[in-house]
Amino acid sequence: MRTQRQVVDYSLQKRAVLRDVHNGRIGTLEVCDASPYLKNAALFHGEPTDDRCPVCRRDNLTLVHYIYGDELKQSAGQARKLAELPVLAMTLREFQVFVVEVCRSCAWNHLTQQYVLGRDALTADELDQAEATASAVAGRHRETGSSSQRREGRR
Ligand SMILES: [Zn+2]
Repeated sequence: MRTQRQVVDYSLQKRAVLRDVHNGRIGTLEVCDASPYLKNAALFHGEPTDDRCPVCRRDNLTLVHYIYGDELKQSAGQARKLAELPVLAMTLREFQVFVVEVCRSCAWNHLTQQYVLGRDALTADELDQAEATASAVAGRHRETGSSSQRREGRR
């Protein structure tokens, strides 16, 4: 997403946990403990992936996006569909997104990523981009305009 910033990636932590699971140092029950809420969120708001569950390998992982922030008020802490995030990013100044992967078969779950979204960045970035594009387009038009005029004048 264009406005995604302050991205924190948890894949290292995830790999460490999985290593311990595969070594038998951590029991699967300890890591496959998705709450009924999280499983429901995966079912109703989850983003399906093509990645197999690293624990049971029976099902593909589902990503659940949780949103947090003062501006969200009573919606803070709710799971949202991925498609809803750009809309929120246009209307809110800033909010946090926590991405959790869940296996709906064995209940494996882990935080994979965290980032900030919102139109605070969108306005800054997009204004720059829009201005740059606008001036480039305008400049090109001016150039072609004047050169064609010059050509006409020479004729
Ligand atoms: Zn699984």
